[in-house]
Amino acid sequence: MPRRKLIAGNWKMNTTRAEAVTLAKAVAAGVGASPACDVAVIPPFPWLVPVADALAGTAVALGAQDVYSETKGAFTGEVSPGMLLEVGCKYTLVGHSERRHVIGETDAATNQKVHAALEAGLHVILCIGETLAERERNLQERVFQRQVYAACAGLTDEQFARLIFAYEPVWAIGTGKVATPELAQEAHKNIRARMGMLYGDNIAAALPILYGGSLTGESAPGLFAQPDIDGGLVGGASLKADAFLKIVAAAG
Ligand code: PEP
Repeated sequence: MPRRKLIAGNWKMNTTRAEAVTLAKAVAAGVGASPACDVAVIPPFPWLVPVADALAGTAVALGAQDVYSETKGAFTGEVSPGMLLEVGCKYTLVGHSERRHVIGETDAATNQKVHAALEAGLHVILCIGETLAERERNLQERVFQRQVYAACAGLTDEQFARLIFAYEPVWAIGTGKVATPELAQEAHKNIRARMGMLYGDNIAAALPILYGGSLTGESAPGLFAQPDIDGGLVGGASLKADAFLKIVAAAG
């Protein structure tokens, strides 16, 4: 079965409450009732509820930027998978490069979060990708192996059905340096082949792998034409409705 594309906008720590609601409404209006791909917006935690209200009855889904690996308890500052579901999230990011490299999140913590989120019923967008130093030393395939193996350890076949990967080379995130379609395709193909070796061809073939890193309406068509690229995780360009909608249109 062909994989349906997903375009998800990661707003990071941006927007006021009013800006978030206006942006969500503009995205929903532009996407319409039956888009040719899945579309999600991922606002900061405090705006999940007003954005959920703005998206009610529309074709745009809601996602969170992170999740904690426990269901409740003494974990000050954290948010559980159940809380995200209760406010209307379908998706959560896990292992975004800013969590790994700025906050210091480990592969082990990423694996625990993936388990908790999938067990609760969320769809997980798991971010992986190499740094510039790793790419310069041609270590990207080792990085994919380590991140994929660690993040997916212990998952059941049923849980893989709600797992999505985002290949985000760290050197392309927020830098304006988008990966070429050829480079991204090679990475996605390699990641899918690794998943096949680890978990079997059926799981690998069904797994959506998004591209992320300075994606724009101009670069999206070439990237989305590649056979192993199943949509995009969009940062900067998701903060302007018209720029984000151009990327959505390229996935149609
Ligand atoms: C991201 O944060 O996931 C991202 C891809 O950011 P940008 O599009 O700004 O590079």
